[in-house]
Parts: sequence; C-alpha cells; structure tokens
Amino acid sequence: MKYIDEFRNSDTANALSRQIHELSSELPGQITIMEVCGTHTMAIAKFAIRSLLPEKIRLVSGPGCPVCVTPAGYIDAAIELAGDGKTIVTFADMINVPGTSSSLSKTRSSGAKVETCYSPEAAVETALKNPGTEIVFLAVGFETTIGPVTSIVARASAEKIRNVSILTSFKLIPPAMEALSSDKELKIDSFLCPAHVSAIIGAKAYEPYVEKYQKPCVIAGFEPLDILSGIKMILQQIIKGEARVENNYSRVVKYEGNQRAVSFIYKYLECSDACWRGLGMIPASGLSLKKEYHGFDAEKRFGIRISNRAENKGCRCGDVLKGKIIPSQCPLFAKTCTPEKPAGPCMVSSEGTCSAYYKYMR
Ligand code: SF4
Repeated sequence: MKYIDEFRNSDTANALSRQIHELSSELPGQITIMEVCGTHTMAIAKFAIRSLLPEKIRLVSGPGCPVCVTPAGYIDAAIELAGDGKTIVTFADMINVPGTSSSLSKTRSSGAKVETCYSPEAAVETALKNPGTEIVFLAVGFETTIGPVTSIVARASAEKIRNVSILTSFKLIPPAMEALSSDKELKIDSFLCPAHVSAIIGAKAYEPYVEKYQKPCVIAGFEPLDILSGIKMILQQIIKGEARVENNYSRVVKYEGNQRAVSFIYKYLECSDACWRGLGMIPASGLSLKKEYHGFDAEKRFGIRISNRAENKGCRCGDVLKGKIIPSQCPLFAKTCTPEKPAGPCMVSSEGTCSAYYKYMR
C-alpha cells in the first residue's frame, strides 16, 4: 500500500496533471516527447497517462523494445540454424516474431528444437545436459540485458563448455536516440529516457547527444508519478529554453551508471554497427563479441549471415518505432494483425507499442 501511495497516488497524479496543463499554456506550440523505452510505453498506456495531458503535448513511442527492433534477417538466421539441427534457446517473445517468411514457432511446429527460457543461464545448463548438441542462445537486448546474456560466454569460456554459442543482435540506446534526433522529418522535441538502461549506462551517457541536438532528456522510472513528473520537468526545460539531462529516477540511476556492469560487458564485447528493424543500419549502435571470443559467436562459428532483408509487406512497425505513426494508423492494426496472429514484432512483444495500444487503447 505504501508503495502504491508513493508512486501511484491519484491526488498527486491529478495535481501533476494540473501543473502540466498550466505549464503547457507557456509552450509556443505543440511539442513531441518520445518515450524511448517499451516499459514506459506499456505504463503510459496502462495508466492512461495521455488522458491526463493537454493536447499540446504529443507523446510518441520509440524503438525501446528489443524484440521489436530485431530485424527479420536475424530471425531468418535463427530459423536457418534451427533447421540445421541446432537447439535454439530464447526468451519467449522471440518465437512469434515474423522473419521474412516464417517464425521460430512455426519452425518448432515442424520439428526443430526451439526452447524458451526466463534466464540466459538456461542455455548453459542445456549445453551441459546435451554435450552432443550445439546450443545457440538468441542474444537480443539493450544495455540492461546485455550483461546477463554475456555471462553465457563468460561461463562457457571459464568452464570450457564448447557446445554453446550466442547469435548476437545487441543494441545500444543512445546511438538510436542520435539517429532519431538527426531525422528532421520526425520533429522530436525531447526524450523521456529509459529507466533500466540508464541504471547501467548512467545519466552521463546522454550528455553528448543533448549537447549536440539540444533536446531535453529526462530519465524517469516506470510508475505513473515518475512519468508525469518527468514530463513536467521536460516542459520546464523547454519553457526556459534549456536542454540538459535530468535524472528523475535517482533512487536507481546514478550519474556514472553501473561501472562494474559496463566493465564486464566491454571485457567480452566491442562496439559495432547494427541493423535495427525500421531504423536500418545505425553506426556504432550494437555490440559484437571480441575476436578472442569468436568461438562463442554463432554467426562466425556456423558461417551464417544475417541479411538486411526488407521488412514484411504492409507492416508499418518501422514507422511506429520512429514515432511517425501510432499503431491505429497501420491498416493491419486489430484487423489482420492481432496478438494471436501478429503481422509484426510490435504486436508480438509484451513491450511492443502495437501490443500496448491493442491491450489498453482500442
Ligand atoms: S499493427 Fe501489426 S503490422 Fe501494423 S505496425 Fe503494428 S505490428 Fe506492424
């Protein structure tokens, strides 16, 4: 009860809403705030945050769902590995993400071994139990999950477990924010920065982008009052003509981030270009295994290539992930694309924008 009162108190929410309305009268026109993180997207939909905001504030969702930004070519590569007798271990959301013409769940129905798990540790345990089988873990995620997934390589390397590898599609949030900021067509005025990612990289990670693009960035937690007070802080910056990084989640996020986690990640991984579904290739926005760990890199080990194939016809996930459209503007939304029969990853993922709109805002 204490927790709910502290972060979800309706009187405080209404007071913040009133303050935001008052502040909005000082805005020169409509402003667009992008919430970068999928967990924010879900919370904003679930707690009807948009209904508490004036029309002058446009909240759009960004590319902060790792499943959603994993390109079709990556899914195709995973399907190819499964079809070639490898056992695929993955977080559950990934199995329904469409590749170019199939998905891992369909591949599993036709006999391939695809196992879902809650922890990357499961891949190592499966490898130990099945020494004659190659186990491939689908290594997708942002800064928050990169460390735990990389622990597969750390343990396999230390214990000389040779039949486990990872298929990497790690993504970094700040370069994606830079790509979105530099796209003038999108007209994003400011960012509500992710909570968990920021706990790893720290508030300082956003400073170069704020400096370069002069867009206010506020790190916020996932509770309704965190989000509303984060939006209020953005408005205050815009009205004062400021652009800086503010940390509205200091109970978890530190300026320097989690240096131990960052050191662990960069012991095994190095920066690389990465292909994002909908956003295309973004320089230095991914992480790949260093040369000395290529024995655990499924792409290198099995000579497989992740292509940059075109997205599924008709699916507007790319535009949703850039905040260009809202899900209901996609002609397939809630018609041929539903959570039971998703046409794109934004409807599959529990943090996908289309899934959030379908569940809470239809
Ligand atoms: S409604 Fe479906 S097809 Fe349309 S953008 Fe969302 S996930 Fe893609």
